[in-house]
Order: sequence, then structure tokens, then C-alpha cells
Amino acid sequence: MYEHDVIVVGAGGAGLRAAIAAHEAGSDVAIVSKLHPVRSHTGAAEGGINAALQEGDDWELHAYDTMKGSDYLGDAPAVETLAQDAPEDTMRLEHWGMPFSREEDGRVSQRPFGGLSYPRTTYAGAETGHHLLHTMYEQVVKRGIQVYDEWYVMELATSDEDEPNDRSCHGVVAYDVQSGNVEGFKANDGVILATGGPGQAFDHTTNAVSCTGDGHAMAYRAGAPLEDMEFIQFHPTSLPSTGVLISEGVRGEGGILYNSEGERFMFEHGYANNSGELASRDVVARAELTEVNEGRGVDDEYVHLDMRHLGEERILDRLENILHLAEDFEGVDGLVEPMPVKPGQHYAMGGIEVDENGQTCVDGLYAAGECACVSVHGGNRLGGNALPELIVFGKRAGRHAAGEDLGEPQIRTGYGDDVEDETETELPVQPGDAGLDTSSGVAADGGVAADAQGIVERKVEQARTRVDTLMDRDDGVQHAEIRQKLQNAMTDYVNVFRTEEGVKKALRIIRECREEYQNVYVDDPSRTFNTDLQQTIETRNLIDVAETIALGALVRDEFRGAHWRKEHQERKDDEWLKHTLISWNDGQPDIFYRPVILEGQDKTYEPKERSY
Ligand SMILES: Cc1cc2nc3c(=O)[nH]c(=O)nc-3n(C[C@H](O)[C@H](O)[C@H](O)COP(=O)(O)OP(=O)(O)OC[C@H]3O[C@@H](n4cnc5c(N)ncnc54)[C@H](O)[C@@H]3O)c2cc1C
Repeated sequence: MYEHDVIVVGAGGAGLRAAIAAHEAGSDVAIVSKLHPVRSHTGAAEGGINAALQEGDDWELHAYDTMKGSDYLGDAPAVETLAQDAPEDTMRLEHWGMPFSREEDGRVSQRPFGGLSYPRTTYAGAETGHHLLHTMYEQVVKRGIQVYDEWYVMELATSDEDEPNDRSCHGVVAYDVQSGNVEGFKANDGVILATGGPGQAFDHTTNAVSCTGDGHAMAYRAGAPLEDMEFIQFHPTSLPSTGVLISEGVRGEGGILYNSEGERFMFEHGYANNSGELASRDVVARAELTEVNEGRGVDDEYVHLDMRHLGEERILDRLENILHLAEDFEGVDGLVEPMPVKPGQHYAMGGIEVDENGQTCVDGLYAAGECACVSVHGGNRLGGNALPELIVFGKRAGRHAAGEDLGEPQIRTGYGDDVEDETETELPVQPGDAGLDTSSGVAADGGVAADAQGIVERKVEQARTRVDTLMDRDDGVQHAEIRQKLQNAMTDYVNVFRTEEGVKKALRIIRECREEYQNVYVDDPSRTFNTDLQQTIETRNLIDVAETIALGALVRDEFRGAHWRKEHQERKDDEWLKHTLISWNDGQPDIFYRPVILEGQDKTYEPKERSY
């Protein structure tokens, strides 16, 4: 068994930042990651990092834009912390050597982004995430932080008291991709999940194949609630054939969207009379699909994004990467023709419920980055606001796990006296595991009380049995079949436009996937680099996560941010200024709600009509 003070699961922007912070606070910290750090999905981030750096801008404007962008579902203490800390944390990256793009006078450049009232997005060409990862990984190497890469974390080693708020997390169980061994990692002070997004729950996504919601699912099964999972961001400019992202930086630099009739529809059809292409992402994604649905799409599928008028020099200086992506994945030369784009799943606003210090309701269990929900993005994330979240809240989680006092959090977690119980919504099927054989792997599943070491050892044994069970089966269903069915259902029915009937259909299909998973088998008999086995385990996680997204989408009968419902096309502030929480209770999802916090340090953010 390996042992450290703090174990960080994941080596993307959030995980690296958390590990550096824990190390600076004097902790023996280790990173466990299924990918080598610089292969993490943060490397795909293109557009930039929002931080109020310039004269004329300030953190209060950033906080206001973020609250408005969130459609008033962001929690003000988290939003204000993000906006206040982003400038210093961004400049720290610069001091560590991040090669930000610069103006003639040497200041770092900032560009306009959707929903921002000031050009606040700091960038390094159109490869911001790539440079961010390399800059922070250098700091990890410099500090001698131990990295276990190509170790796949399967479960958390959590105690199993009845109430999740009474449980504690003592480590993780991981599968060594190179050798096939399953081992325990004991964490004396804390486990920080920084496992990224769950984009692979959808068929058309900008996310990498590694984005399988593992952290979400592990925390969920250990009793930490998932928050606001219904809020999925669909980015307006993904390439139709692959889902590869064309950065918002293109529109930030002046790129224009046209329909098949050559109309600049964001203005000409009145979707966003002030901001046009730079309206918030949810607004632009709905506008594009409305154009397609009303017959003004190109090839009945997409619209055009044109950047030719920006000129070759500016494009090569600021958007060169975009030219390569359009050419390589769509065969289009962005210097001489417009690029085809359509909405694609891009980001999960929801995630593991945490407070401002990154803590979940399970003692010793933290989460940061896209897998967490603190909540700064509420119903809709503004472009450029995820990367500052990684560095601001990754740092806070690392420091707190290492024992630093960051003050009493204002955001509460877990089941408590401030939550509203139960939902009236009729569910089409029994969600969760209830009634099924769950021996292929659940946590929080009873068992004898033990000390920390004993808890980790017991979880290791369960995980070894689980791997053996999957490997020993000779036939059954392959994970790829189940995963594709799940992804199709989510893309068909829990997409930009949602109907009650569609979401219910998705829930029925997810239930079928769960039942089929009872007979899943691993075809590859090898113990080394067995991606078949790893993806089989990931598929189980995707089923759990997809179900929470669909359940959230069904119970929230209003239209807010990225969540649009055909039968409920208005925002219902009287009823729905609250977060949806779903927690796993003995194999059954419990749904409850916690009020959103609109009171900031000096002002209350009054919900207003959101127009751009
Ligand atoms: C194409 C694209 C472009 C984007 N551009 C921007 C942008 O310009 N600005 C912005 O603000 N946001 C952007 N975003 C969003 C932002 O990049 C992501 O939300 C963010 O990078 C996620 O970082 P993370 O550290 O949370 O996760 P990731 O970078 O995805 O890292 C997750 C880590 O967890 C590890 N991991 C996962 N599961 C396991 C497991 N079971 N066991 C062990 N390790 C595991 C992985 O190996 C990886 O190291 C973009 C997103 C996409 C998809």
C-alpha cells in the first residue's frame, strides 16, 4: 500500500494546482492520474483565462458578469472568490513562465469573450490550456511532487456510516495500467478529486475520450451529492463531423456567424441585438439550432463561422491553431472559406457538491475543477471562466487538505436543515441500482467498521474481486455497445432542446444500459494496458452520471441558462432559485434542493431578465 498525506486524483489544471498548493503548505502530496499530466484534457483549452487585470476593469464587474451568465444560479461567495483571486493567480502563472500573448508595450493581451462586459480573457495564442499544463507540470517536477501516472483510480476508500455527513475518506484504490495490479493509496489528510468532465456521456462532444466522469461517479457512490447536473453546456462552435472545438476566441477576435441564406442571424433574427455572436454560449447555441430547425441551416445541419475578414496576419498571430483544426478535421481552409460549426456538448456546470474550500460533505474528500460544483457557473458558464476556476479553487482545495485554515465556508454541503426534500416529479423507471446485482462494484455498501488502513485494504479486496469477475466472464455484452447506446440517448433526448417525453425516454434507455451492464464482459484477456477493462469500468461511471443529468433535467421544470424545457419556457425564480442535489442512497438516487446564495460581500445579486 502507498501512503501520502494528500492524494490528488487527476493531473489536469485543477489537480496540478491543488498538488502545488498542498506541497507549498508543507504536505507530502502525490498525484495519481490515468493519463500522463500533459495529456490531460486541460491541454485542449484554446481561448483563455478570465481575470480582471487591466485598468478600467475590476473584480466586481467580473463577478457581476458571472452571476448574470449563470442565470442567477451561481453562489455569490464562490463567484466573488473566483473574481477576486483570478488576477493574482493568473499573474502567478505568468511568473512561473506561462507564455501569454502580449501587446506591443509588453502587457499580456486580453480579448473579448461571450457575456463579458470587458475584454478580460487572457490567452496564449489559441493554445492556452496546453501552455497552462506545461507551466504547472514544470512546477510539479521542480518541487519533486510524486506523480503516479497511468494509474486508474477505481473507487474511494470511504467509511460507510449511514449518513454521508458522518463518513470519512481515507484514500483510493487504483489499477496500474502498466502491470494490471490493483493497489491501495492511503491518504492521511485528504483525497482531492480533480478528474475533469463527463463529456463522454454524450455522442457529439468537444471532450476527449478520457472525460468519463469517474470522479463524479466515485464521489456520488460514496455519498457526496452531485449538484445541478442538468446544466450541460453545448458550445456553439464545434466541427460537425468530430465535435472538435473551434474556440470562442474566433468570435472574440471578430468572427461572424451566417446561416445558409447569408444572414448574420444573431442580429438579423434578433437573438442578441447588442452582443450578436458574443452573446452567452447558451443563447448562441439555441440560435444556431433554431436556424437549422427552421430550414436556414447549411446541409440541414450546421451554420458557417467566417473569419476571413480578419486577415491572414491576425489569424496567424492569434488563431493559427484554429486553421489547423479546420483543415485537419474538416478539410476546410479558414483563410479562404467559412468553417462549418454546430453546437456540441462541451462542459458540465454541475458536479460534486463542494464549499469554497473544496470540501465535500464526506470528511477528507475534496473536489476541484470541472468535476466539482462550488458553484461559480450556475446555469451557464461564461467562456474563459473554467480555467480560473481550476487555479483558484484547485489552490484552495490543496491548501485546505494540507491543513491550512481558510476560514469558515459560507456554502454548506450534504444533507442538512437548509435543504428542501423530495420531488413530486413522476419518474418513468426506477433509477439507480435498486433491485439489480451490484457486485460489479459499488461503494458505501455496508461492511464491518475498520480503521483507516482497514478501510483501504477492504476496498482493495473488493476492487480486485471486481476486476477478476469482469475478466473471468467468457461472453456477454461489450462496454462499447452499451456506451454508444447511452451516448445516443443523451445526444438525442437531453440536448440543447429538451422535452419531458424525450428526457423520460432517455431515462428508460439509461435503465436498459444499467441492466445490460450486469452482463458486461471484457474481451481482452491481457493484464497489461488493458484499455478494454478500463473503458468497461468507465462505462459504469458514465451510466451513473448520465442518469443524474437526465434526472435533474426532468425535475427542473423551468428554463434557466443552458437548461431549456419545451413545456416550461420561462425562468421560475419563485420556485427554482435553488440547486438540484442528487445523492446515492443504498443504490437509489435521492433528490433534494438547497437555496442559491445571492448575497455577496457588499451586495445582493437581484435576478434580472438576461439579455445580451
Ligand atoms: C476543447 C475545449 C476547450 C476549452 N477551452 C477553454 C478555455 O479556453 N477557457 C476556459 O476557461 N475553459 C475552457 N475549457 C474548459 C476547461 O478546459 C476544462 O473545464 C478544464 O480544463 C478541466 O480541467 P480539470 O483539471 O478539471 O480536468 P482535466 O484537465 O480533464 O483533467 C482530468 C485529470 O483527471 C485524470 N483522471 C480522470 N479520471 C481518472 C481516474 N479514474 N483515475 C485517475 N485519474 C483520472 C485524468 O488523467 C486527468 O489528468 C475548454 C474545454 C474544452 C473541452
